[in-house]
Amino acid sequence: MFSEKSKSGTVITGLICLCLVYAGLFHLARYMGWLAQNPGLPGTIARTVYGPDVRPEMARLKHVREISPEIPPITVLCYHEVTPERGDDCMNVKPEIFRRHIREFKKAGFTFIHVGDLQKFAAGSKTLPEKAVLLSFDDGYADNYKYAFPILREEKVPGTFFVVSSTVGNNNRMTAGQLREMLANGMKIGSHTVNHERLTDMNAQEIDFELKASKEALEKILGESVCALAYPTGKVNETVLDKAKTYYDMAFVASVMPDTKQTLYTLQRYGVFKWNEHIESIFRNR
Ligand SMILES: [Zn+2]
Repeated sequence: MFSEKSKSGTVITGLICLCLVYAGLFHLARYMGWLAQNPGLPGTIARTVYGPDVRPEMARLKHVREISPEIPPITVLCYHEVTPERGDDCMNVKPEIFRRHIREFKKAGFTFIHVGDLQKFAAGSKTLPEKAVLLSFDDGYADNYKYAFPILREEKVPGTFFVVSSTVGNNNRMTAGQLREMLANGMKIGSHTVNHERLTDMNAQEIDFELKASKEALEKILGESVCALAYPTGKVNETVLDKAKTYYDMAFVASVMPDTKQTLYTLQRYGVFKWNEHIESIFRNR
């Protein structure tokens, strides 16, 4: 016969064993990447306990570097909106999170560069720091000036803003005066074409117009040369690449494509959205 004491001892030991087994399975599931993808409660607990699973992103970025050794090992991020007012918008990153990204990159020993540094690198007149990160912003949203720009100034970090030339001054977009003010304070402005339409759907003449006229319009506003382009939607073909080479020193796509070689005209960018705003942890230990 078991005494009451040994019975309760067995129950406690059993519970502890059960907890250990469950924790082990939880850890295994986390390790295999299952829970990190789970949008429900177990996934939320896993992400809280272990942090976001950044291994797939790290592997993708590493592969891009390995197959494109001639391109400097820079990390380019692509933001869209930065505002506290559109918390649920997937294209938006809240200002305090954006500031956290900058601080995490600083902590990890990164140097912030802009397209002017890349232009000098391409011309052979400048080397780039070993760990370089370039912050870029697409579409020219007014909140970039209102929220991102003050943070960049405070943190003493440059940003590169790709602007759609026909929308300058429109509702919700930056004005010519704001672009000039940012330029005067260490920021860089690039072209995101005239109309923000998919270039791969156009003929050579239309592509020429989008790339040339946007460059000229922005140069008129800024009073200096515009050397960089970001393709709307990131899509390119041979004609688009030829035209980009005619008018610009470099051009950016909108995603990281691990199996595609990078060139100065297909510089890959890591899109930062609400759903992957943990971006800084990818680079923390690199
Ligand atoms: Zn865009």
